[in-house]
Formats: sequence, structure tokens, C-alpha cells
Amino acid sequence: MTQVRTVDHVVVGLGGLGAGAAYWLAKLGQDAGRNEVIVGLEQFELGHDKGASRDHSRIIRHSYHTPEYVKLAAEAYETWDAVAAEAGEELVVRTGGIDIFPEGSVIPISDYTSSLAANNIPFEVLDAHETMSRFPQFTVESGVRVLFQKDTGIAPASKGTDAHHRLAAARGVELRAGVSVNRIESDGVGDLAVVTDDCTYQTGSVIICTDGWTNELIESLGVHIPLEVTREQVVYYPSTPQSLSQFSIGAFPVWIWMDDPSYYGFPIYGDMSAVKAAEDVGGQPTTARTRSFDTDEGALKRLTDFLGHTIPDMLGDVKPRVKTCLYTLTRDRDFVLDTVPGHPGLQVGLGSAHGFKFASWFGRALAERAILGKTRSNVSPFRFDRPAITDPSYKANYMQ
Ligand SMILES: Cc1cc2nc3c(=O)[nH]c(=O)nc-3n(C[C@H](O)[C@H](O)[C@H](O)COP(=O)(O)OP(=O)(O)OC[C@H]3O[C@@H](n4cnc5c(N)ncnc54)[C@H](O)[C@@H]3O)c2cc1C
Repeated sequence: MTQVRTVDHVVVGLGGLGAGAAYWLAKLGQDAGRNEVIVGLEQFELGHDKGASRDHSRIIRHSYHTPEYVKLAAEAYETWDAVAAEAGEELVVRTGGIDIFPEGSVIPISDYTSSLAANNIPFEVLDAHETMSRFPQFTVESGVRVLFQKDTGIAPASKGTDAHHRLAAARGVELRAGVSVNRIESDGVGDLAVVTDDCTYQTGSVIICTDGWTNELIESLGVHIPLEVTREQVVYYPSTPQSLSQFSIGAFPVWIWMDDPSYYGFPIYGDMSAVKAAEDVGGQPTTARTRSFDTDEGALKRLTDFLGHTIPDMLGDVKPRVKTCLYTLTRDRDFVLDTVPGHPGLQVGLGSAHGFKFASWFGRALAERAILGKTRSNVSPFRFDRPAITDPSYKANYMQ
């Protein structure tokens, strides 16, 4: 028989963002002296690899294309620092990072430099010669300009998500794995019901962090977000005694090639003992339910060719290891962080394939809205009522 329970908050989806929401709901509620019942529901096991958040590294950076994102990125560092202090472990590894803009790149460097300057974030701009003498692993053409920012680094995705889960559980959040939400019901004035096979949760606050699965839950409420889900892959090049010194943190930065196609990569980090690189939005459209885990050989060849020109020593002789993952993209590549129109108390947080660095920030902003009714962060660009969501003729552009 299905149980019926009344609770204060339900978080649906316990990947990176949902784990952040579960933690911050508990923390902010307890800070406000409340003793709330919070339940987190995850359809698979905690830490599974079928979504977007299971990997040892994600890029975190101040450098973004608008002043608003740069400001939010500073808040993202702040939230990770707070969680790291409570967890007693390092959740951001600052490695230094370079954004590489080839001559005539589709992404203008001035968007980045002006946005950083507007927020008083220090940076350097290097020419090709300066870049290659500072980072001799790279071979770049003379027209290239490079933005260096010292705080760019690694957000260890699995570790950060595990820390949010652990701290949320320690603060009393009931995290239930292997429990799929079948549907969410809403009376349109604030009473919500989250229906699973064994329990219906009655509540006034639901936070949906289900990324590639989001439309499955909101379409029955008459709301749809135009999303493209793609199957992406990251490639690990095993380190050799020679590459260890060349590609370790300190010698080699996090890097992003700011053109179309766009590529990015990391120094050797964590238990992988490999240098990692990938193409951004290089994968094929799929769905969260039907995606494959097979290697995309065409994408692997594009990446190999690019690295062969630009970072040739990275390739080595050993066969690389490929890991697949899902991108869930809005058409303007901006986040969604808003209440579902017509359904008070029901929020969506969606990272649009650059959200892991913001996972804890999402958690705090969503929890502030749920508990205090408002957040300190500027989330207005991430509303449901923007053209990328409401205008059927809006043309997708994923380059930022
Ligand atoms: C290859 C790759 C590289 C990336 N690089 C970066 C980067 O460098 N920097 C960065 O900031 N971001 C990066 N991102 C993006 C970032 O990883 C994602 O934005 C973020 O991890 C999304 O987290 P999430 O919790 O929303 O999604 P997920 O981790 O996919 O979690 C969603 C969860 O919801 C659960 N769920 C779905 N439906 C239900 C249901 N009905 N009931 C219960 N549970 C449900 C799913 O099982 C899943 O666990 C990258 C992503 C990929 C794939």
C-alpha cells in the first residue's frame, strides 16, 4: 500500500545540483532555527554514472562572457569554500587556467576581459610567444591571444557531490536512492504531491534537479523547456614517467580553446593518473533514457587531430580511455533557476552543461528561495519567461 507523508521539502534528483540543494536546505533551515523534514529522491544509486555529475573533474573558473556570470562564479567559489570547510576536504583545486582565442575566434576575448574587469577579477593576456614560453606544452599560431586567470581550476565532481550527500545526511536529510518520482501533482496554489511507487509526499516545496530528465516531470503540468540532450565524451590519456612532469598541476593549466569547435582539458589530477581532454558540444543528440555508453569514434578523431597540432606530447603511445556523459542544453545555454509557471513552490534548477562549478551555488540559491522566499543572487537571467524558452523560433547557440 502506498504511504502518504507530509514533509517540508522534497528534492527530486540527487546528482550534483540536487545534492547541493539537499545540503543547503538543511543548512539554511537549521541556521534559521527550523527543524524541517527534507527528503531527497534519486531514481538510481547515489553516485551513478548515467547522468552528468559523475567524473573526477569539472572546470571551475571566474572567466565568463558576461559580468553577471563572473559575479555568480565568485559566489560559486564562496559556496564551495563553505562546504569544504564543513566537509574538512578540498573541493576546489586552483591550478590556473588559460582561455585560448585563435585569431578571428567566434568567441571574442573582449567579452571575457571586460566581464572580468567589471568585477575586479585579476587576469593576464598573453600573446602566442608568451604563451608558449610559459606553457611549452602548447603550439599556437602567432595571432592567438590567451587569457590567464590564476583561480581557474578543478571542481572534483564526484567528490563534491559525495560531500553534499554526506553533509546533508548528517544534518538529517532523508536521502532515498533507487526511488523514481513517477509524477508531481500541483493544485496551482501551492499544494504539491510527489508520487513514487511506495509513497506520496505532500509538501509546499519541491526542487527538481533532474537535468536530462526534467521535461518528463514538468510536461504533465503543462510546461516544457526546449532542451537538447547530447551524448558527450571525455578522454583520458594515461600519464607516462615523461608526461608526469609536463602535465602535472603547477606545470600545466586547465585550458579551453575558445572557438567552434571548442576543446578543453585538465592537468593530471586525482586517482586517474591521466591528462583529460574533450570537445565541448561535440556529441550527438540523444535522450537520457536511450543514450549509449559507446565511444564516438568520429569525435575521438577530431579531438586527437586537434591535440596533435596544439598539445602534441599529450597523446603518448598508450590507448586513451573514453568516458561518456550527458549534456542538457537550453537554447541560449543559460541556466534555468525559477519557479515553474503556474505552480508556486515547485522550482527547477538546470545547469545547461556548464553547471557543475555552480552546483553548490544552485543549492544555496534554490534553498534560499524555498526557505526565505528570495535569494541574494541575481537569478533573473534564468527565468522561464525568456525567449530561449518561450519563443519557438529562437535559434540555439551553445557558444559562449
Ligand atoms: C562531459 C561533461 C563535461 C562537463 N564539464 C563541465 C565543466 O567543466 N564545468 C562545469 O561547470 N560543468 C560541466 N559540465 C556540466 C555539469 O556536469 C552539469 O551541468 C551538472 O553536473 C548537472 O548536474 P545535475 O545534478 O543537474 O544533473 P545529473 O547529475 O544528471 O543529475 C540528475 C539526477 O536526476 C535523477 N533523476 C532524473 N529523473 C528522476 C526521477 N523521475 N526521479 C528521481 N530521480 C530522477 C537522475 O537519475 C540524476 O541522478 C559537464 C558535463 C559533461 C557531461
